[in-house]
Amino acid sequence: MGSKNDKRKELTLESHPQITIFSDWCKSCGICVAFCPKEVLSMDENSRVFAKAPEKCIACHMCEIRCPDFAINVEEARPVADSREEKQ
Ligand code: SF4
Ligand code: SF4
Repeated sequence: MGSKNDKRKELTLESHPQITIFSDWCKSCGICVAFCPKEVLSMDENSRVFAKAPEKCIACHMCEIRCPDFAINVEEARPVADSREEKQ
């Protein structure tokens, strides 16, 4: 039964925070882009916010806190490995 191992493999892929932008609520003010300390966020040619470098996100939540329209959400990174493997 390898299903548990398969789940661990999925978790290892989510090693950085998950950023969700609710485009219906976003008014393209650019505040989140300006306050992100890691330059994770950017705006495209249509002034839509997107995560150009999600792997740099440190989950400081500054973008969430500053967004006046609750249009961005950041979830902490999930565990990346089975702790038993680290101890050996
Ligand atoms: S949580 Fe912090 S580092 Fe991540 S996108 Fe938001 S402001 Fe940037
Ligand atoms: S701060 Fe909020 S409303 Fe402004 S651009 Fe960012 S997600 Fe959109």
